[in-house]
Amino acid sequence: MAETLSGLQAEVTRLREEYKRELAAVSSTTELEEVRVRWLGKKGNVTQLLRSVGSLPPELRPAAGQEINSLRAEVEEAISARAAEVRAREQENRIREERLDLTLPGRRMPLGHLHPLTLVLQDIKRFFIGLGYQVVEGPEIETDYYNFQALNVPRDHPARDMQATFYLSEDLVLRTQTSPVQARTMERQKPPVRIIAPGKVYRVDADLTHSPMFHQVEGLVVDRGIRFSDLKGTLAEFARALFGQDRAVRFRPSYFPFTEPSAEMDISCMVCGGRGCRVCKGEGWIEILGSGMVHPQVLEMAGYDPEDVTGFAFGMGVERIVMLRYGVDDIRLFFENDRRFLARF
Ligand SMILES: [Zn+2]
Repeated sequence: MAETLSGLQAEVTRLREEYKRELAAVSSTTELEEVRVRWLGKKGNVTQLLRSVGSLPPELRPAAGQEINSLRAEVEEAISARAAEVRAREQENRIREERLDLTLPGRRMPLGHLHPLTLVLQDIKRFFIGLGYQVVEGPEIETDYYNFQALNVPRDHPARDMQATFYLSEDLVLRTQTSPVQARTMERQKPPVRIIAPGKVYRVDADLTHSPMFHQVEGLVVDRGIRFSDLKGTLAEFARALFGQDRAVRFRPSYFPFTEPSAEMDISCMVCGGRGCRVCKGEGWIEILGSGMVHPQVLEMAGYDPEDVTGFAFGMGVERIVMLRYGVDDIRLFFENDRRFLARF
């Protein structure tokens, strides 16, 4: 520390160079504040120099004090001048960074849409609602009674082998079909009945065209004087509404325990128009649903008088219809949620 006036003056000169260098290097208000503390703070360079005045002979102290005070004033002024420059620079940078280019095109949010199963299910519902049907739902965990017995499939009936069943207990199953909704509806409603029952069903089965969970739509009409021709007219019209007005329709005899007589309905192949191709396996026809006149036994179990009322029922797999309509050949695609697949619809 300076012990003579000229020593002190040399120190002041050195410090003057130093603060100018430091200030010139400052590029932010934070750095500037650091410089201010280092020079003018309680332990700052100028303050310490001022303290050293006490070690000078008394007659030199006023001059030394004056020297240092003028250095302090100079540093203060230089800092506030530099502060104005740094703030202006910072503001310029912020404006440049935050500038909005209003001419850039907006970013599009990708919009989802309904699943193909939902789309087709909506079409099916719309058709039958238009004919005055009600849409009814039922439980997916069903009793053995509603899933089988009330539909004319007693225990040990061979038809149980047609549907590999998930049993939850001796008496509870994951429903293998939506038909139990028919039985439940007939129990609580007097004829006339006109319903469709869409929903999930479950079977122990998995390959390209079978999924352990899939969707069915079941339909039931019961009233006085319902005949097989009502079944044919309704379902043929349905097939045309779903697959196009120029589809030919045919009914083939079949067997279901809860209908008698039973029939499967085919439509002419929409790929080859009936000449035969890979999709229709060379047949020219594609099966799309099962149907039949409600078995008198089923009507009786529901408390209806088969002498008084008759009815027809039908059922179809929704996945199968979507696959036919859109040419999808792997049922698993419906449940993998791959956006590349879903975006096709
Ligand atoms: Zn074909």
